[in-house]
Amino acid sequence: MQGKIMKGIAGFYYVHIPNKGIYECKARGVFRNKKIKPLVGDNVELEILDEKEYKGNITKILPRINELYRPLVANIDQVIVVFAVADPSPNYYLLDRFLVAIEKEQLEVNICFNKIDRLPDNEIDDIVSKYELAGYKVFLTSATDVIGIDNLKGILTNKTTVFAGPSGVGKSSLLNDLQDNIVMETGEISKKIKRGKHTTRHAELIAYDENSYIVDTPGFSNLHLEELTLEELRQCFIEFGEYEDHCRFKGCAHINEPNCAVKEAVEDEKIVLSRYESYKMIYTDIKEQRRW
Ligand code: GDP
Ligand code: ZN
Repeated sequence: MQGKIMKGIAGFYYVHIPNKGIYECKARGVFRNKKIKPLVGDNVELEILDEKEYKGNITKILPRINELYRPLVANIDQVIVVFAVADPSPNYYLLDRFLVAIEKEQLEVNICFNKIDRLPDNEIDDIVSKYELAGYKVFLTSATDVIGIDNLKGILTNKTTVFAGPSGVGKSSLLNDLQDNIVMETGEISKKIKRGKHTTRHAELIAYDENSYIVDTPGFSNLHLEELTLEELRQCFIEFGEYEDHCRFKGCAHINEPNCAVKEAVEDEKIVLSRYESYKMIYTDIKEQRRW
């Protein structure tokens, strides 16, 4: 039997087996000795001890594709960065910092601009085109008017998704709109999980459908970009990729170098100016940090 750890509470792990339900498990044996601890998001092998009571035993943790630390969760397939088109209007610098932090983890990322009920279409288009030009897929939603939710649902299937973004942009409202698909927990276990809720410091997964999960805690709330190397930073601006081979200098920083293809692309409006400015600001931050 294989399943996915949805939450851990006081030594118990709640493992979702698609089309069967959620099993309360202990992690006995094998990994006691090894230094590996089961994480929420882990895909595990388990033996079922009691089919009626939904009790089991985790026997093996399958290899992780990745691990996030805030929130602590394994096997994330994608991040959806949520910003509002208005109230508050998008802070592009902050959005770019989110994107850099996610690119650094090499996670797939999509952008969702919410609150489209608060801005005229032509102004929304301006916002969207900036990020489409950079190469991102952009979704438009209104959580309150339930617009664009089905499109968003479309990309959740068969994935484990983290939502990210500043507070006030509508993340909780969007999660509420998505809830009609949520897989219900089996009676007794559901009660236990609810009772245990406040004892866990860790993230939990919400089963969106039998093979799709959403992390209940927003991700990337601490954007410590100063730890990046300057080279990593360049790579995190994905749209620089197609130009940098044409810079005069190999390893060009795209700041003060002559014959810089990235700067030329900014002048030709092939790279969005605000993106390039975000790059320069983060670049300067990293340099400053080094000096100290
Ligand atoms: P979070 O902090 O990102 O989780 O944001 P919330 O979901 O708590 O939403 C913040 C505020 O924005 C609340 O007052 C919501 O009612 C409101 N809000 C959320 N989505 C929308 C939307 O699509 N349109 C409008 N007009 N307001 C929204
Ligand atoms: Zn350059």
